[in-house]
Amino acid sequence: MKAAPFAYVRAESLDHALDLLAEHGGEAKPIAGGQSLVPMMAMRLARPALLVDINRLGALKGVAIGPRRVVIGAATRQRDAEQDAALHRAVPLLRAALAWVGHVQTRNRGTLGGSLAHADPSAELPLAAAVLDATLVLASRAGGERRLPAAGFFLAPMTTAVGEEECLTAIEWPVWEGPGVACAFEEVAIRHGDFAMASAACQIQRDAEGLCRRAALGLGGVAGTPLAFPDLAARLEGRRITEALAREVAEEAAARAEPGSDTHADAEYRRHLAAVLLRRALLRAGAAPARAAA
Ligand SMILES: Cc1cc2nc3c(=O)[nH]c(=O)nc-3n(C[C@H](O)[C@H](O)[C@H](O)COP(=O)(O)OP(=O)(O)OC[C@H]3O[C@@H](n4cnc5c(N)ncnc54)[C@H](O)[C@@H]3O)c2cc1C
Repeated sequence: MKAAPFAYVRAESLDHALDLLAEHGGEAKPIAGGQSLVPMMAMRLARPALLVDINRLGALKGVAIGPRRVVIGAATRQRDAEQDAALHRAVPLLRAALAWVGHVQTRNRGTLGGSLAHADPSAELPLAAAVLDATLVLASRAGGERRLPAAGFFLAPMTTAVGEEECLTAIEWPVWEGPGVACAFEEVAIRHGDFAMASAACQIQRDAEGLCRRAALGLGGVAGTPLAFPDLAARLEGRRITEALAREVAEEAAARAEPGSDTHADAEYRRHLAAVLLRRALLRAGAAPARAAA
C-alpha cells in the first residue's frame, strides 16, 4: 500500500515546529528518522495530514554528559549515541540496549526520541528508559516545557503522554556515580534485528566485596508498556547476586508481567522467556567486569 496524501514542512527551528504542531493539532506529526512512521503510513495505520520534519533542528541533537545526568537531544541518531564512548561509560545500559535496536541501517536514521515516542512495547529504548527512570522533556507552544519520568510517559502500546501539540525535545538519563557499574541486556527475537518476543535489562553497581550497592531491572515485550521493578531491584541491595537470588527475583518479575499471545509465541512461553532472560541478565551483570568510574 501507499501512504494517504499528506503535506510536508521542514521545520527551521524548534519554535517553528511547535507553531506547526499547535496550528494543526492532531492532524500533524513530527517525523524524525521515519523508521516507524513511514511504514505505519504506508500501511495506513497512521494518516497524518502534515509531517513536521525535525531532522535539521540542531537544538534537538547532541549528547551532553554531566556528573549526575546525561541529556540527549530527542532527534539524536541512535547510531551516534551507540558510537559515543563517553556516553557508554556514563550510561552503560543505554549503549547495551542500542545495540539491539533493529539494524545498523535503521539506527543510522532512527532517533532516540522517535523510538520513545513510538512506544512499541517490545522496543529496547523504552525499556532502558523505564529501568533507569529517565526523564522525558516535552515542549509545546501553549504549555512551554514539562518533564515526565518514564513511569508516567508510557501509557499503553504505542501510546505515550506526548500531547498532540507537543514535541519530545530531550531525554535525561541518570549517571550512576562511582565504580563498579555493570549492565546486561538480553532478548530473544525470531531473527536478528526483529522486535523482541521478550527482553530483560538490568544495571547493577557492586562494592569492593562484590555485593550489590544499587540495582535497576525490568522486562520488555511482556506487557503493554515496558516494566520496571524498583522494589525487586531494592531486594538485591547489600547482597551477592547468586543463582538462587537471580532466579527468585526473575521469576517474581515474570509473574507480574501480562504477556499477550500471537503467531510467534503464546503468553506462557513469553512469561517463561522473560524469567530466563532476566535471570541470565542479573547473573551476567552481577559477575561482569564493572566500569571503573563514570
Ligand atoms: C527493519 C526495521 C527493524 C526495526 N527493528 C527495531 C527493533 O528491533 N527495535 C526497535 O525498538 N525499533 C525497531 N525499528 C523501529 C525504528 O528503527 C526506530 O527505533 C524507532 O521506532 C523510530 O525512530 P524514528 O526516529 O525513525 O521515528 P519516526 O519513525 O520518525 O517516528 C516514530 C513516531 O514518533 C513520533 N516522533 C518522532 N520524534 C518525535 C519527537 N521528537 N517528539 C514527538 N514525537 C516524535 C512520530 O510522530 C511517530 O509517531 C525497526 C525499524 C525497521 C524499519
